[in-house]
Amino acid sequence: MAEQKVDIAQQIDKLVKLQEVDSVIYRLRAERQQKPERIQELRQQIEQEKKKFEDSKNSVKQLQVNRKEKEIELESKESEIKKLNIQLYQLKTNKEYETMQQEINGLKADCSVLEEEIIKLMDEIEQEGSNITNEQKQLEGKQQQIDSEIKKIEDEIKSIERELVKEEEKRKQIAVEVDPKILSNYERILEVKDGLAIVPVVNNACGGCYMQLPPQVINEIRLKNEIIYCQICSRILYDKVSLPAGRENS
Ligand SMILES: [Zn+2]
Repeated sequence: MAEQKVDIAQQIDKLVKLQEVDSVIYRLRAERQQKPERIQELRQQIEQEKKKFEDSKNSVKQLQVNRKEKEIELESKESEIKKLNIQLYQLKTNKEYETMQQEINGLKADCSVLEEEIIKLMDEIEQEGSNITNEQKQLEGKQQQIDSEIKKIEDEIKSIERELVKEEEKRKQIAVEVDPKILSNYERILEVKDGLAIVPVVNNACGGCYMQLPPQVINEIRLKNEIIYCQICSRILYDKVSLPAGRENS
């Protein structure tokens, strides 16, 4: 069988090297994936601020509309008073005179209410206007801050992508030295086990799922006659101690 020609010890060593690179690749990919989400969040944040600002502007506009309406109403009542004042002296009877005088008084009362309302609205408009000036300054500052944060994240994405290209190149060079069958098994596990396919034995347990391993399995791992998989998490197991010299600490 072809598998007998495969040097398992050497293959394990390659897989461990491959895993080191793959762990970096998985971390970089996860980081790269998160970055656009963060940009999206920042964009939403500034959109909300803009909307708040638009709402404030609209509320001032509404106050101005109210004020204009009251002013028109006031003008019309004032001209009505003028008209009635002229008519007042053309009236024949006291009764007519009194009725019209009452009408004029009523209109005058309306006018003073309107005047008060207009003054109140003008105060509100002034207050809101100065709030808006502040809000606009804050919004501009916020926009600048978010723009530069987004720019920074975009730069980070570019740098992650450059690193990924490098790591993927490194990976290719190691992968060609791995037996194709072993490599395809490794890659399948890598995919389903979130980027961790080969794990060391740690305190007689699987370094991936931490389940205790029977002594017989540990012996098999040390013998390196074949690839040994964890029965619980299916990851490939290796013994750190029996790796070639110089790799124990890496
Ligand atoms: Zn396991």
